[in-house]
Amino acid sequence: MLSTADLRTHPALLKLDLYCQGLRLDPSCLVEEDGGRKVLRTRAGLGSGLELILPGGLWTNVPVTEPFAARSPYTLHRTGVPGGYSLRRDGEAVAAVELSPRPEWYDRTTSTGKPMTRIGTLQGTYLGIYQAKVCEYWTAKPEKVNCKFCSVGLNLGIDDADEKSLDEVMEVVRAARDESGITYVDFNTGHYAGDTYLDLLLPFVERIKRELGLLVGLQTPPHRDLKNYDYLREVGVNRVSFCFEIYDRQRFEEICPGKHAEYGLDHYLEAVRYCAALGKKGPRWEPWVTNGEIIAGLEPPESSIAAIDWITSVGAIPTVCVFRPLSGTDLADLEPPETEELIPVFRRLYEACMERGLPIGLAPNVHVSLVLLPEECRSLSPRRYPLKSLKLKAMGSLFGRAFERRLERTAAAA
Ligand code: SF4
Repeated sequence: MLSTADLRTHPALLKLDLYCQGLRLDPSCLVEEDGGRKVLRTRAGLGSGLELILPGGLWTNVPVTEPFAARSPYTLHRTGVPGGYSLRRDGEAVAAVELSPRPEWYDRTTSTGKPMTRIGTLQGTYLGIYQAKVCEYWTAKPEKVNCKFCSVGLNLGIDDADEKSLDEVMEVVRAARDESGITYVDFNTGHYAGDTYLDLLLPFVERIKRELGLLVGLQTPPHRDLKNYDYLREVGVNRVSFCFEIYDRQRFEEICPGKHAEYGLDHYLEAVRYCAALGKKGPRWEPWVTNGEIIAGLEPPESSIAAIDWITSVGAIPTVCVFRPLSGTDLADLEPPETEELIPVFRRLYEACMERGLPIGLAPNVHVSLVLLPEECRSLSPRRYPLKSLKLKAMGSLFGRAFERRLERTAAAA
């Protein structure tokens, strides 16, 4: 069992333990009154919790509504200091934490009358938008073939608007840029027959790039014609992410029946490999990252580690989520993973990225609440990579300055 001393000194461990155990809110908590973000039933089945900032500047999204969270040893308490909150485990103080600030635009509507949070929400410090209609795995006949951990089909129309026009999205992106200082917009779609997801997103990418110069990423299924990604690279998309979730072939088939039947694991892997190689092409001034996304806790840790090793071997960066058994989903009755089992997975995430010299932690002001980022896992490893760390630091500051100049130029031209 993890010691309180370890949790106090390793915020990454605390972030991981909170994903696995959740949190109970003490009656003293006044999250929204104190400027925190309301718990939204957000998309893609992983984010449904309370947005917090842990020591070390680690942004997180902690499960609070699922049944397992009701049994958590963690409790959140309001302190005597205005807006102050503290985290306890079994009654023992662990850390002072902050509520992730709720921006004013969260309480506004677009000029068409839709609540802005039904167009997009902050996940940590970036704007996440689930664009377009519900994933068609949820509406397949004779029976749905959705990924079993996913809650998208339960959520749409509740927290998300069904239709989001280009102008509505731009209005929210502008508000988030102006008032929340976002640097990155992430679009997420499910599967649509005819592989239309990239065509749907392209107008949004072009307008954001042209009018605001922000970083933009797309998380969609892997298009059958991989040449499409050459074009995305050219128009300045900065990130593509492919969620194959599970590396073990049998588990992949069981947990993701739609993805298995429609694309298959091999096509997901080929898309990751193909896109990672595009980093050498395309506009030099536009960073390009390819992510392979997996969920730890739905297959043995060795299999997650094998996935991390494969993803990094082709030059892509793993995104490793922690399985969260969301209420209402097909896997709602499963237990979340044990923290101790996942520590080697996240340790390997950091080490594999560093060994391969991958560009981690470079995007300016991008703090992600839904996952532990590779660079956040540094304290989980005894290994140090002094030269590579120095190089990353230098690259980060160069890129940060270039990005700031670009934002100024785009603003001046607008
Ligand atoms: S592809 Fe799977 S995870 Fe993504 S929205 Fe569809 S059912 Fe959910």
